[in-house]
Amino acid sequence: MPGRNFLHIPGPTIVPQRIRNAMAIEQEDMRAADFPEFTLPLFNDLKKIFKTETGRIFIFPSSGTGAWEAAISNTLSPGDKVLMSHFGQFSMLWVDMCRRHGLDVNAIEMDWGEGVPVDRYAEILKADTNREIKAVFATHNETATGVKSDIPGVRKALDEADHPAMLYVDAVSSLGSLDFRMDEWGVDLAVSGSQKGFMLPTGLGIIGVSEKALAARESATLPRTYFSFDDMIAANDNGYFPYTPNTIYLRGLRESVNMLMEEGLDNVFARHTRMAVAVRKAVAAWGLSLVARDEKWYSDTVSAVRVPEGFDGNEVARHSYKYYNVALSISLGKIAGQAFRIGHLGDLNEVMVMTPLNAAEMSMKDLGIDIEPGSGVAAAQEYLRSTRQARF
Ligand SMILES: *Cc1c(COP(=O)(O)O)cnc(C)c1O
Repeated sequence: MPGRNFLHIPGPTIVPQRIRNAMAIEQEDMRAADFPEFTLPLFNDLKKIFKTETGRIFIFPSSGTGAWEAAISNTLSPGDKVLMSHFGQFSMLWVDMCRRHGLDVNAIEMDWGEGVPVDRYAEILKADTNREIKAVFATHNETATGVKSDIPGVRKALDEADHPAMLYVDAVSSLGSLDFRMDEWGVDLAVSGSQKGFMLPTGLGIIGVSEKALAARESATLPRTYFSFDDMIAANDNGYFPYTPNTIYLRGLRESVNMLMEEGLDNVFARHTRMAVAVRKAVAAWGLSLVARDEKWYSDTVSAVRVPEGFDGNEVARHSYKYYNVALSISLGKIAGQAFRIGHLGDLNEVMVMTPLNAAEMSMKDLGIDIEPGSGVAAAQEYLRSTRQARF
């Protein structure tokens, strides 16, 4: 089939040509004398993306799930009490990982479409007068439902209870796309991956670790080898890695960080908001709603669009891929089939974000969903035109 495939799922995201060029290189010696001249500034610049000055960055050759495991296994001990909440596939898997690590998990179940229950966290932390809770977990952006949570609110709940628990944040589908402030929000472990906002292929688990979390590893007894912070620190301090790093991806990451810094993080965030609003205008014009229950939960990186009863959202995604060569994302777990998802993060501009809207609209119409042809695209166009910005 001529023409290109369009990838509009919430990760992996589109890898821009600049990054692909940066990765189209020879293998290199990861023990070369000049390798640290490359790696040390990269670690340093990543701190700017996480917005941390006092924290430390680790890069593991893994997907985001590996970075979760690094966060947990380096800082906690079996039986430690942790406070979590789940409201989608990813927050649920994080709970599962903590359980499998033998932690004593208090996991609050929320409706899919809501986010971290900040008020419940506040009550539980206040009631924990013996300070038994060691860690509080929050999924910043639940990719399965398109729900963004209030991380500063979680910090406030901890502070108001004067509670010393560490704060673990899954920022995999938010970092580099949505406002994220590791130091200001007092995040102790900020977990990310390469294939979302960093616009790279899957394969790097990137994690920001506070001084407090680094200190916690001294008494934490969960086993860790591959994901050991200690081994990483010993090698990273000199600009090297304890085992063979994926140098190609690191070169790609360098380019990604350059791109984010050249655009300016605030502009990156504003662009994501604008693309997300365009998508939401289209959804409203179709007469459909999002899985996210309320405006305060709306994610600016992914939208899960509910299809009317009697229709299958996953069929919309399959149809779009089969007939129009546009990959939309299926819905997972508890809401499987009730929605389809549009990823709108990473390397994206106005006309690019129109593509999944176009394909979704055609697919829904083909499948008999009662929407006005062109209505979503028109609404998105209207918004993008009225907020247009000159490129130069
Ligand atoms: C993508 C993602 C992950 C990590 O998934 P991997 O497939 O292991 O990279 C974790 N949490 C969220 C919220 C995600 O979007």
